[in-house]
Amino acid sequence: MTLHFLAGYVLAEHGKQSARLAAQAGGRPGATSEDIYELEDRIDRLVLVVAAMWSLLEETGLTAEQLQDRIRTMDESDGVADGKMTPRPTVCRSCGAKVSPGLTACQFCEAQVDSKAQPGPFDSF
Ligand SMILES: [Zn+2]
Repeated sequence: MTLHFLAGYVLAEHGKQSARLAAQAGGRPGATSEDIYELEDRIDRLVLVVAAMWSLLEETGLTAEQLQDRIRTMDESDGVADGKMTPRPTVCRSCGAKVSPGLTACQFCEAQVDSKAQPGPFDSF
C-alpha cells in the first residue's frame, strides 16, 4: 500500500513534468522529445531507488504516516509547500550576496563559492 502511495506521488509529479516539457518543447530552444525521454528514464530510475529505500525502511518499522509527515516537513523546509524541494541560494563569503544555485562564482564579485563541496546521493539521477 505504501509503495503505491510512493509510486503514485512520484508518478503524478512525473506526469505533470512530462506534460509541462512536452508543452514547452515546441517553444523552448533545446527541449526535444529526446530530452523528455531522458527525463522519464531518470525519473524511472529515481522511482526505483525510492521504492527500494522505502522497502528497507518499512522493514525497520517506519510507517506510511511517518513518511508522509517527513515529505511534508521537507517540502515546507524551503519556505513553499509545493511538492518539491527548491535549491537555496549560496551566500557569497566575500560580499555576502546570494548566489544562485548552480553557479560556481558570485555573480557580483566573482569570488568562487562552494556550490557543492561533496556530491549528494541523488546527483546521478
Ligand atoms: Zn560576492
